[in-house]
Amino acid sequence: MMISEELLAYSMQHSTAEDELLADISRQTHLKVLKPRMLSGPLQGKLLEMLVRISGAKRVLEIGTYTGYATICMARGLGDKGRIVSLDINEELETMVRNFFSRSGLAEKIDYRIGNALDLLPQIKEPFDFVFIDADKRNYVNYYDSVVGEMKPGGLILADNILWSGKVLAENRKKLDKDTAAILAFNERVRQDPRVENVVLPIRDGIMLVRKL
Ligand code: SAM
Ligand code: CA
Repeated sequence: MMISEELLAYSMQHSTAEDELLADISRQTHLKVLKPRMLSGPLQGKLLEMLVRISGAKRVLEIGTYTGYATICMARGLGDKGRIVSLDINEELETMVRNFFSRSGLAEKIDYRIGNALDLLPQIKEPFDFVFIDADKRNYVNYYDSVVGEMKPGGLILADNILWSGKVLAENRKKLDKDTAAILAFNERVRQDPRVENVVLPIRDGIMLVRKL
């Protein structure tokens, strides 16, 4: 976390509050699921929802569903014709996640697929206009490369955890592990890509916001 607990609490108190379903997903994830820190919180969830709504995106892709918190947020930002495809390799969470989707009332907008995103992505032909990359860090460059080329101008890609708890800076790590190296490679790939403009949002664990030119 890059801001104090107090400022984070203040930021949440002055943002639209999480509703009961999202609060319950958060509660159940903390009680029953490994690594609850992976969950998107209320600030990131609301940001994703608002960006989907503002952009008017109709075809959204999420790579890394986990317990569906961000999926439901993005689904809420979609208009009548909008759909979201969300991919996750972890089949153990499927029953719980499908239950959350049905409680959201948006299940018909959510195409949830279980499998390795690297295998599933080539099967999807129609390009996306909004992509949230939030799965295994080592494949961030692969995920980016597989979606950016087909995107239309104005399409958005968001990638989460791109400051990696500060470990993108050498002074904050003992040695360069594979995940950190992958994040560094991803950030560099985006920065050097002439097809896009981008900005690093230093909120939470860092979000890379990319817009196709
Ligand atoms: N987007 C979720 C949210 O905001 O609440 C959090 C996603 S969590 C950080 C990462 C997820 O990526 C895990 O549920 C994991 O199973 C999934 N994952 C890891 N490797 C994957 C792969 N190769 N293909 C698909 N999903 C993968
Ligand atoms: Ca994340």
